[in-house]
Amino acid sequence: MNIPASLERLVAELARLPGVGQKTAQRLAFSILRNDAARAHALASAIEEVKARIRFCEQCCGYAEDALCSVCADPRRDAAVLCVVEQPGDIYVIERSGVFRGRYHVLHGVISPLDGIGPDQLKIRELLARETNLPRWRELQWAFRRMEDRGQVRGGRFVGGFVGEQFALPGASTASVVPGEV
Ligand SMILES: [Zn+2]
Repeated sequence: MNIPASLERLVAELARLPGVGQKTAQRLAFSILRNDAARAHALASAIEEVKARIRFCEQCCGYAEDALCSVCADPRRDAAVLCVVEQPGDIYVIERSGVFRGRYHVLHGVISPLDGIGPDQLKIRELLARETNLPRWRELQWAFRRMEDRGQVRGGRFVGGFVGEQFALPGASTASVVPGEV
């Protein structure tokens, strides 16, 4: 007996998610089927809503529902201390620690020559543009995941070196906080 086409489609879509294999996708699909229709609609509309409403913050390139994210819109956050992170999700990891009171910039990746990713593919131009609009940073921090784990040895240092050269920032440091360890 074949799996019904609509169920097969749901399993295929779920299996495309990172970390979800075929077995997990089937388990999730059966669970969605077992739940009542209201739960399934709530899940579907949450997915649609997040895609429709979330955009990139005009200042830090993190996730936002308005022009600015909650960190950039908060006047109490120190604009002279900037933490540069790899992906929007890294901000939430650092925020959970509750100790960082500066602001962020999301590069949306790291420089990785082997993958053909250079400064132009990242949000570095946006980072440089911020400097003309904001007070000069006292401190620039880098918070990248361990590059070695992903075959991107020294990727964070490439970015750090590149941006540091642009600004000749004495405080710029490539010694980084690793989001997973914050
Ligand atoms: Zn922002």
